Amino acid sequence: MNYSKRIQQLPPYPFAELDKKKKELRAKGKNLIDLSIGDPDLPTPGPIVGCMKIACAQPEHHRYPPYEGTQQFREAVAKWYLKRFGVKLDSQTEVLALIGSKEGIANIHYAFVDPGDIVLVPTPGYPVYPVATKFAGGLPYLMPLHKTHNFLPDLKLIPDNIAQKAKLMHINYPNNPTAAVADRKFFEEVVHFAKKHQTIICHDAAYTEIYYDNQKPLSFLQTSGAKEVGIEFHSLSKTFNMTGWRIGFAVGSAEILKGLAKIKTNVDSGQFAAIQEAGTYALDHEEELTPVIRKTYQDRRDSFVEALKKMGFKVNPPKASFYLWMEVPTTGATSSQYATHLVENSGVVVTPGTAFGEAGEGFIRFSLTAPKEKLIEAASRIQKI
Ligand SMILES: *Cc1c(COP(=O)(O)O)cnc(C)c1O
Repeated sequence: MNYSKRIQQLPPYPFAELDKKKKELRAKGKNLIDLSIGDPDLPTPGPIVGCMKIACAQPEHHRYPPYEGTQQFREAVAKWYLKRFGVKLDSQTEVLALIGSKEGIANIHYAFVDPGDIVLVPTPGYPVYPVATKFAGGLPYLMPLHKTHNFLPDLKLIPDNIAQKAKLMHINYPNNPTAAVADRKFFEEVVHFAKKHQTIICHDAAYTEIYYDNQKPLSFLQTSGAKEVGIEFHSLSKTFNMTGWRIGFAVGSAEILKGLAKIKTNVDSGQFAAIQEAGTYALDHEEELTPVIRKTYQDRRDSFVEALKKMGFKVNPPKASFYLWMEVPTTGATSSQYATHLVENSGVVVTPGTAFGEAGEGFIRFSLTAPKEKLIEAASRIQKI
């Protein structure tokens, strides 16, 4: 079969090797603790499921939904943004429903990127940014995230000729995979850069509600001038354990959202209205539904960090997200070698940093998407080897 060049140029699936190894070991009867998955193990809160059951049965929801999202869902988003971030949004023009934020993050390139255009992409990072850039014919320019710079891209290091041609920039805080959070100053630098170089900012904010020690992460839109230069992608996936439901949204610049909506109306027909109704319920009740989820992660993080520290590992406790990004403790081993060593000898599955780009070399990512007891057992298994 002659696949398109678009498909042929795709990098190999980063988890292929790890998946193969997992299958092999499982076939041999090895009991694995899988901390490599970025998908909550907790179920969607019961009241959201209850709302969905009722919404499903309503015939008016069985027809094509409005392209831009139901008015009810968009109003819930605007209300939640005001309450949570103090950001005012016009639900008609500054909110767009998405079939999961990944859908919007991928489609945005078709609206703004022409062949040869530069897109600034953080590395290590979510693979969708560079892949979707290339699908649209754009050229990803990688912005490395270094520990010494708090895993924020150093915008001063972007060469002038690149900055001038940068059509779009992706940023993602709280960050996957590094678990870093952004401060106000960084977001201000981004707005300044965007205005100077006429670059569209896409902030992926999927993890803003998974935070620790009551330190709430910021919205990019809280920065003065941000709404003129960018949009923020949000998702109910991580906030409410709804990854399988496929519901997210983009908020911010009406002009930018208009471009994204134009693409969407030509490739999809919106998310099932019943799911949007359940999503509305979730956002309306966020303050009641999310504390228990955060508490679970806080418990897991505290226990796991303590266990790792006791073993003499150097760990930076994450401030947000459900990841722990740790330097490979064995000198001389690559991320991939170390991850293989862990799975073969302890049955603990982690993601090698390089799965998120070469800049992830020297790190591994643990997901806190397993019960506390499993995390403690994982630490003790690692200690034994
Ligand atoms: C999980 C995740 C998302 C959310 O994806 P959905 O399509 O909304 O499920 C977005 N960005 C990053 C970096 C993620 O890890």
